[in-house]
Amino acid sequence: MEKTLKNQTAIITGGSRGIGRACCELFAQLGANVVFTYAKSKDEAQELAKKLKTCQCKHLSLQADVRDYGQCREIVTKTLDNFRKIDILINNAGIIKDKALMMMTLEDWKDVIDTNLNGTFNMTRACITTLLKQKSGCILNISSVSGLTGTPRQTNYCASKAGIIGFSKALAKEIASYNIRVNTICPGYIATEMVTALRDDVKKKIIENIPVKRMGTANEVANLCAFLASGESEYITGEVIKIDGGLAI
Ligand code: NDP
Repeated sequence: MEKTLKNQTAIITGGSRGIGRACCELFAQLGANVVFTYAKSKDEAQELAKKLKTCQCKHLSLQADVRDYGQCREIVTKTLDNFRKIDILINNAGIIKDKALMMMTLEDWKDVIDTNLNGTFNMTRACITTLLKQKSGCILNISSVSGLTGTPRQTNYCASKAGIIGFSKALAKEIASYNIRVNTICPGYIATEMVTALRDDVKKKIIENIPVKRMGTANEVANLCAFLASGESEYITGEVIKIDGGLAI
């Protein structure tokens, strides 16, 4: 494949596993310098770093909690120290803590909002001055079909993901004149640890409801991210793009 992201610097949060990891691997193959973060998965992060070494690109692996604005600023400082610019930010780090509202604690609510929504704010806020000064950049926020349609037992998650959509649309309008694009991706069910951990009978039921009768793969989401981060999609901003095998039709 042509190196469509050659010499681009991409920050990808939650790169140790799942969708974030697939993005790291693909972006590196496409020639980008990859800065990836993780929260706890040190072994997985080391393994990924080893794999990225085999690509010609440069990479940086950083343990950082997106809930902490100070740590997000550190990510940006270290990225600029190493690569002098930020071309792409993918706000991917996310968690679920599913429960019926009646059983949901304030902590369950706050953890999910803090990671998914406030984490997106923290990283974007930490990058924004650099992007505005550069007068270029691309932000991809990973939301979810659940943020569009609502899913029972996920009030915290759906609120965080719907919040990301509003945030992205507002920011897209705010900074379009600075040549910075902001798009939102809404995956349906993607076969990562977040979903494979579900009971088999639950997974079977989920698949029955997906028109294409299978879950998506992290690589398929990474391909969409690569397109939206590349010059091939220069006229697309403020969009909310589903990748869900028809789930939300
Ligand atoms: P995984 O659970 O496989 O990976 C989550 C990633 O986020 C890990 O790298 C994890 O790091 C990181 N992370 C979690 N909390 C924090 C934190 N506080 N600070 C920094 N990093 C953190 O998830 P997926 O790959 O499945 O999901 C990626 C994104 O896609 C999420 O935003 C999710 O909501 C969204 N999504 C996923 C869907 C799916 O079906 N899988 C469907 C719709 C949306 P560590 O490994 O260290 O824990």
